[in-house]
Amino acid sequence: MWNDVLGHDGVKSFLSNYLHAQERPHALLFLGASGLGKKRLALEFAKTLLCESGTGADHCESCRLMNLEDGNLSHPDFILLEQEKDSKTGRIKDIGIDPVRELINKSAFAPVQAKNRVCIIDGLDSMTVYAANSFLKLLEEPPAAMVIILLAESEEKLLPTILSRVVKVRFQPIPEELVYKALLERNVPKDKALALARISEGSLGAALRLLDQQVFEVRQQVVAFLEALPLRMPMDYVVGRPWVEKYERSQALLFVKLLQLVLRDLLIIAADAKIDLYNCDIEDSLHQLVSGWKVPNIKQAMTIVSEIYEALDGSVGVKLAQESLALKIDLIYKE
Ligand SMILES: [Zn+2]
Repeated sequence: MWNDVLGHDGVKSFLSNYLHAQERPHALLFLGASGLGKKRLALEFAKTLLCESGTGADHCESCRLMNLEDGNLSHPDFILLEQEKDSKTGRIKDIGIDPVRELINKSAFAPVQAKNRVCIIDGLDSMTVYAANSFLKLLEEPPAAMVIILLAESEEKLLPTILSRVVKVRFQPIPEELVYKALLERNVPKDKALALARISEGSLGAALRLLDQQVFEVRQQVVAFLEALPLRMPMDYVVGRPWVEKYERSQALLFVKLLQLVLRDLLIIAADAKIDLYNCDIEDSLHQLVSGWKVPNIKQAMTIVSEIYEALDGSVGVKLAQESLALKIDLIYKE
């Protein structure tokens, strides 16, 4: 039923048992980092719960209306609440009160086609407090034929009153080896697949998103920037560079994140520590880069990079942040 989802054998066997249990909790909370496959598994599970034969693998009418391949989820007994993009700013919005009210209204009616109604809320940790309090009423008196699947990265931001009414299902990072193999199957070259498996920290979803974001091209910009440090004046490598002039916020965030991982690798090499490098596919370049750095300066640079990451994650201008990053790293390097 969910063979397409990598790893998570414990979660899968819990869900299989759930399908056949007499007494079933109304609400499950899937907890774990983004990209681990929580949503995919939740969708497969929802499809199975709605399926007429209870397998999710046949071609019944319910299954047809839960087409995960083309994303056409028009089953009348299925509700998906998720964060949406603000059309003006392009930022991801929190889940507010309106969709929660709509959910509560819908759940007052019996299922139309299936035996159950299934609701997935993706990004519960981004629900506004106002919306969460309203949602709590639904959890306190859940409709008989409703299964609620909540997805969150961690429980830190969740109301204790919500936590006490759900069954927690934890998603652990997938072993690097599994992500590596899955990437090979998708025709990613061996050396790149290993680096990507490490950079994505056991998340195939994250690895595939990174590929979409041209992770290796962006990292090439990072390496070119660091290679230019001993040779040029700062403005020379800032002017005309795509990572300063052309990147959108999401790409700039990726650039800064990758710069942090490269600096971390330089620190490992400088300390001659026997720890795996993230960027294992460009180890030779890293060995050349490290010779120009003093260890305390690498650490200082990493602090600056985290500060710039936080600023970029907020509302600071992308170009301004990137220029400031270049100038500060240049100063530290030449100290
Ligand atoms: Zn079916």
